[in-house]
Formats: sequence, C-alpha cells, structure tokens
Amino acid sequence: MSAYEYETHNYDVVVVGAGGAGLRATLGMAEQGLRTACISKVFPTRSHTVAAQGGIAASLSNMGPDHWQWHMYDTVKGSDWLGDTDAMEYLAREAPKAVYELEHYGVPFSRTEEGKIYQRPFGGHTTEFGEGPPVQRTCAAADRTGHAILHTLYGQSLKNNAEFFIEYFAIDLIMSEDGQCQGVVCWKLDDGTIHVFNAKMTVLATGGYGRAYFSATSAHTCTGDGGGMVARQGLPLQDMEFVQFHPTGIYGAGCLITEGARGEGGYLTNSEGERFMERYAPTYKDLASRDVVSRCMTMEIREGRGVGPDGDHIHLHLNHLPPETLALRLPGISESARIFAGVDVNKEPIPVLPTVHYNMGGIPTNYWGEVLNPTAEDPDRIAPGLMAVGEAGCASVHGANRLGSNSLIDLVVFGRAAAIKAGQVVDPTVSNPTLNQASIDAALARFDGLRHAKGNVSTAELRLEMQKTMQADAAVFRTDKTLAEGVQKMYGVAGKVDDIKVTDRSLVWNSDLMETLELTNLMPNALATIVSAEARKESRGAHAHEDYADRDDENWRKHTLAYVNGKVDLDYRPVHLNPLLGHNEGGIDLKKIAPKARVY
Ligand SMILES: Cc1cc2nc3c(=O)[nH]c(=O)nc-3n(C[C@H](O)[C@H](O)[C@H](O)COP(=O)(O)OP(=O)(O)OC[C@H]3O[C@@H](n4cnc5c(N)ncnc54)[C@H](O)[C@@H]3O)c2cc1C
Repeated sequence: MSAYEYETHNYDVVVVGAGGAGLRATLGMAEQGLRTACISKVFPTRSHTVAAQGGIAASLSNMGPDHWQWHMYDTVKGSDWLGDTDAMEYLAREAPKAVYELEHYGVPFSRTEEGKIYQRPFGGHTTEFGEGPPVQRTCAAADRTGHAILHTLYGQSLKNNAEFFIEYFAIDLIMSEDGQCQGVVCWKLDDGTIHVFNAKMTVLATGGYGRAYFSATSAHTCTGDGGGMVARQGLPLQDMEFVQFHPTGIYGAGCLITEGARGEGGYLTNSEGERFMERYAPTYKDLASRDVVSRCMTMEIREGRGVGPDGDHIHLHLNHLPPETLALRLPGISESARIFAGVDVNKEPIPVLPTVHYNMGGIPTNYWGEVLNPTAEDPDRIAPGLMAVGEAGCASVHGANRLGSNSLIDLVVFGRAAAIKAGQVVDPTVSNPTLNQASIDAALARFDGLRHAKGNVSTAELRLEMQKTMQADAAVFRTDKTLAEGVQKMYGVAGKVDDIKVTDRSLVWNSDLMETLELTNLMPNALATIVSAEARKESRGAHAHEDYADRDDENWRKHTLAYVNGKVDLDYRPVHLNPLLGHNEGGIDLKKIAPKARVY
C-alpha cells in the first residue's frame, strides 16, 4: 500500500484535458447523459487551443465553390499520402456539420456581407482536386478563432452538467491486469491531495509536446503528458518523426503569426527583397503547404539570402494591406508583432523564422478516437476503455504534414466522434470496474520517487539540454549523421532523468515537482521522435531527409510505432487505404487521391 491517501471518484467517462478536443468530447458525452468528469492542469480556457488564431477548415462554400471531396484531396496531399484514408474522409465530410454545430452553440464567427460565416484562404487548401485556384475554406473569428471556440465549448459543457476538476494534474493511467484502462490517478495542485478517477472510458485530450523543442509556438503546458502516460503502459506512439515547423514564428520570441496573414495577402521576402516563394511554388506561392514554405525559407537563409545582421531570418510583409483589413481581420497578430518584434505592421515587415508548431504524431487511434494497441495479426486492435483525441492523438488525418486550420476541425470532429462512440459502448447502468490496486500503487510510487529525488541535475537544466538537442538534431532538414548523433545524445539526456534533483518536497503548488512530472512526459515523446526519424530513410511531409531526398512509397508508406521504455523499439503498421464509402455511394473516386508528386 502506498503512503498516500486518496479520494476515489466514480464516473462513466473521464476526459483528461480541457482544450478544444477535450471540451468537445466532454460536451458530447455530457449531452447524452453520461456522467462525465473533465480534468485539466490549467483553467480550461487557458488551454493552448485559446491561442489558435487563423481558423477552422470546413467546405461550407460561403465564399466561392467548395466540396468536401476537395477538402479531402487537399488533406490527403497535405499528409503526403501517409494519412489514413477512412479518417481523412470522415474529417472532410463531417467538418461542415461540426462547424455549424459550433455556430449554433454560439461561436462568434466573423461574418460576410450576407451574414454567413467568413472564410479565408489557407496554405494547401485548393479547388478542383488541386487543379483550381486557392479556396476560401478557413472559417474564422477574426484572428482569435481558438479563443472563441474554447470559451463557447466551456460554457456549453457547464450547461450540460459536465463536472470539472480544474488544476488537477493527471499522473498516470490505471490499467487492469489484462490491459483495460480504468481511469487516472491525479494530484490536486492547490491543496496537494491525491484523487483517483474510476471510469468506464478514459479520454486523453492532453495536447501536443511542442515544448520538447527549444523554440516552439505552443504554450509551456504542451508537454505531451498523454503520450508519456500511454508509453509508460507499454502502448505505442505513432508517426512521431513528423513535427511541423510553422513558417512564421516571430524571430527570437517564437510567438506565432498566423498563416491567415498570408491568407489575407501577406508575402515573404529575402535579403534581396525577392518574393522567393514564386520561384519554389509557382502556383500557390506563399500559400504552399507549411512544410514546403518552411523548407524554402531555410534554404534561402542557408544560401546567404536571410535578412537581419546575421542573415538568419526572413521578412513577412503585411504593410501593403489596407489598415482596415489589418484592424478587422488580423488585430491579434498586429498586437503580437508590436509587443514581440517592436514592429508596426502597417509600416514594416515582421522578422520571422520557422518554429516548431504542431505534432502530427501521437497516440494511435481509429476515427472514433479509440486507442490502438496493434499486433502483427491485428494492426487495428483496440486498447479497451481508452480514447485519445486532438493533438495528443493520431487518427491519422495529418499523416506526415498537417494543413493549416485542419487541427481545430480535427479537435471538434473527433471530439464529437469520441462522444458518439462512447454513447454506444459505455453503459451507464452497470457498475464501474474494480480498480487494479497495483496500478494505482505504481503511479503513486513514481510520483513519490520524483518528489523525493535527490540527484545532481535540476529539471530546468535537463529540460534545456533536451530542447537544444531536439532543436539541433531533429530540425527542418535532417541527415543520417545529425539523426544518428541526435539519437545517441538523446539517450544520454534521457538517462539523466534517474539523476534528477527536486528541491521542493511540498505537495501544495509545487511547480518544481509538476515540471519534473512534465519532463518525464516530454522525454519519451522526444525519444520516440528522434529514433523514429532516424529510422525513416525517405523524405515525406515534414520529415525532410537530405540523404534520401525522395518519398519512397514502396518501402515507407507505413505508420511508425514507437514503444518507449528506457530504449525505443520500433514497429510499423499499414496505412488505411480504403475510404468509408464507395465511389458509387457518393464517396471519393480513389483515382483522384492516388499518390503522386506533391508540388504546389
Ligand atoms: C499559437 C498557435 C496557433 C494555432 N492556430 C491554429 C489555427 O488557427 N487553426 C488550427 O486548426 N490549428 C491551430 N493551431 C493548432 C491547434 O490550436 C492545436 O493543435 C490544438 O488547439 C490542440 O488542442 P487540444 O485540445 O488537443 O489540446 P490543448 O488545447 O493543448 O489542451 C490540452 C489540455 O490538456 C490538459 N492537460 C495536459 N496534460 C495534463 C495533465 N497531465 N493533467 C491534466 N490536464 C492535462 C491541459 O490543461 C489542457 O486543458 C495553433 C497552435 C498554436 C500553438
């Protein structure tokens, strides 16, 4: 028995995370009358989703012709043919419904003259299966779309009697002997008490792990806690080598300037004042997909055409746009540019640099959000009682590269899908499982071990070492050499967790301990990323490998599975190639989405 006393709470469903994905799942579960608890380490509306600026993709056709099949095609191409076809079809087809639901829940979208939801162009979103001009598909509430969605979903969840446990930190999953998830063990940050949540279904909606890198647009809370919890139970992480660098992080600060800025007509220039994207992507130029633009910027800088005293960044121009447009459509980033770069966007360009922004990889799921525990015989085997949604999960709709505005839609479509599935598989009339005491004890023993850790390395030092290693060796461009060195360095860094030092032993508002727990979650995510990257001998989407410049569908059109337990063991599972509906049932013509070269 553990030295810690705890209170046990019984629910039908427990959702860990109150970002867009967690709240949409919570709302959907609670609406159906399932007893639902939502746990969050920060106040719900402080989740990283609040920072999403540009918007949410759905083929509403409010501002010109559009079709879900075009959205699906763009997503397939954006994923560089690594996404699962059924999941990408589900995303594109359900997107309009999910956005109209948000509208009815009260999200204050920007409006067209006729009062419809305003939509802007975004990178990689096109018409006519990539043959036509850019499409206006990204629904926006000015440049504060995530903020609008998060606040609305929180209000609706409260209205539907979801119960919130705020500033509770989920430490570890509780698993039965035979691999059924039974809930989570949590630490209440403000009074130091321990809480055990017993649930028939546990949903991980813990967000990304951008903070494994030194320069990231994501919040300091994006520490991959769900991935860490899953890895500790022997379950795999999928496609972790694919990390998205956003082209326009503010130089130095790393804060995001939304792609919507280029959607509204902004463009990039090098030190010669050249609009260089015209050379690399003649059709879509500055609105090519993110991995492409980030690589082109990096190439310009490497070839000596970067701007600034050190020639190490690029300029983003908005100063040719009408001040009214900037004030109406891009007020938030105008303010960020002023605060973080000292730039008046009406007059001067913004200094920008590709910055870590999004994790395509995560906990593998099917398109209902059910977590997968694949075997060779059954690559789609389900881990019972466990779901993952949002950036923590990997459904996989983004494959090797995510299109801008496809994450917010992923959160609501799959948050909603998870709730629909839970409505089918969770029976509120039966009693909850008998908890596996050994699993609870193991979680509390790990917690206690870190709380009393007396090693030589501080959490902050070790975190920085990890972040610098990842930034240097798992970057926009990768080589066999940098990756092999990076893997060795990261094993060294990860080994030092055993020598960690925590100085504060208290249980109340102990940020030292919380950051240490977060570091133990970042670490398996980072290791999985660099080891998976080292193994993948091709270039695909965000994984640009200089020694293997081409995509190799014959050998590498497959998902990587990384099992992290001290070392990383890799395995692979096939990509889902079949759509949900046949062509004659109104589904996509498979010929339209057959693999080809990805040019913009
Ligand atoms: C600056 C920025 C701008 C973006 N703009 C756009 C955009 O315009 N369009 C778009 O489609 N995408 C955008 N993205 C991407 C998108 O916003 C994110 O992928 C998405 O918001 C992630 O949502 P989430 O619900 O998965 O996780 P998050 O919003 O990160 O929420 C995670 C939740 O999990 C909780 N949590 C985590 N760990 C624990 C734990 N151990 N215990 C308890 N709770 C825990 C947190 O408290 C939080 O509530 C942007 C991202 C960034 C960083």
